[in-house]
Amino acid sequence: MKRIARLGAAESGIGTAILAQKQGWDVFVSDMGSIKERYRTMLEEHHIDWEEGGHTEDRILNADEVVKSPGIPDTAPLIQKLIAKGTPILSELEFAKRYSHGKTICITGSNGKTTTTSLIYYIMKRSGADVGLAGNIGRSYALQVAEEDHDWYVLEISSFQLDNMFDFRADIAVLMNITPDHLDRYDFEMQNYTDSKMRIIQNQTPQETFVYWKQDEHIDEELKKRAKGYAPQPTPSSKPAKFGNPTLKPFEDSDFEKLGLTFSQMGQHNKRNALAAYWATRQVGVDEALILQCLNEFPGVEHRLERVAEKNGVLYINDSKATNVDACFVALQAMDRPTILIVGGKDKGNDYSTLLDIVQQKCAGLVYLGVDNAKLHNAFDRLGIPVADTHSMKDCVEACVNMAKAGNCVLLSPCCASFDLFKNMEDRGEQFKTLVREL
Ligand code: ADP
Repeated sequence: MKRIARLGAAESGIGTAILAQKQGWDVFVSDMGSIKERYRTMLEEHHIDWEEGGHTEDRILNADEVVKSPGIPDTAPLIQKLIAKGTPILSELEFAKRYSHGKTICITGSNGKTTTTSLIYYIMKRSGADVGLAGNIGRSYALQVAEEDHDWYVLEISSFQLDNMFDFRADIAVLMNITPDHLDRYDFEMQNYTDSKMRIIQNQTPQETFVYWKQDEHIDEELKKRAKGYAPQPTPSSKPAKFGNPTLKPFEDSDFEKLGLTFSQMGQHNKRNALAAYWATRQVGVDEALILQCLNEFPGVEHRLERVAEKNGVLYINDSKATNVDACFVALQAMDRPTILIVGGKDKGNDYSTLLDIVQQKCAGLVYLGVDNAKLHNAFDRLGIPVADTHSMKDCVEACVNMAKAGNCVLLSPCCASFDLFKNMEDRGEQFKTLVREL
């Protein structure tokens, strides 16, 4: 019996283990941390061997294949040993695809993945297709393949997952954009990160389609380079992939008006997300009238430019997911009222200078929200816009109420991670929404 080891026992890990067992593998699951109760129960119910709080190396190094959580970097000592031994290291998506009859629409990019993935899934579902939502979002792909394999899957895929996918071929690949992110995992080389994102089209043939945003700085360039024979180096735990030769479906912002589209979500960036979803689902053969209707009726995704309530003429918007400067920038661009911007949290080395012009242009006030707001004072106080200093969501919302006039909007788009004051970005967004609704 062939042996498989799974490193990491959360949603995708448990799914992988259950699918592997169903396919006749001898399975071992190992997690460095502690496994959540509900996942432990699932492992027990399936009689799958597992451990937590560390890795027993012998039981992993003797596996024929290892499926690792995308969070584990190649620099981890155990991964180094597996690489030295030549053990194939796969991502959940690579493994699960082997056993699925379903076709895939695969979405990646530095920003806009979740919104575009959710929108494509929404349209596919409304079209009556038998479709699953997976990848970085929703239930594990592997578990769905094991329990209720669908005809279609809409998969949100990160660069870390792409690194350990090599035979995988997307039926429709979507690449939103490539901007610097996660460079610490790519030797601080933008090209390495770009190569990883471009793997979304690996193994594609002209029968498959590549939908991408033509105005992105990198994508067209990368396609040209590859046509001339550029062969990127894979990351240490990966294998080279055959570079794809898909049918190209580039789109630009101006197509939105040309096609006569309207979209329920605000902002220029969301027009791009709508266009990507439009072309991906047209490619599948979804009726155009239905796509247009879905674009207007899509409810949006929580914590992304989410309209919370209008109180005393002030519109409150929750964009708690904006944890970097780029995301806050596109959010401000989307504002059509004088804005009170809530900004701050755990700073990841942000350079706020790119925001100065747009803040000057759009903001009637700034409310800083963090344990330490000194860097924000340094960056923005010079603009002469009213500012308030707060250290809890309660004080923050109170400061917004005091600052905002009828006709303004209050935008939570913090540019920063949430861990200084909140459990995560969802907790930050929930607290904001609860307090606003109580006003
Ligand atoms: P991801 O899953 O890639 O993080 P999301 O759809 O969750 O993307 O959006 C995260 C943030 O990125 C949003 O708050 C929004 O401000 C910004 N964003 C969304 N779509 C785009 C896009 N197409 N281009 C640039 N920024 C975007």
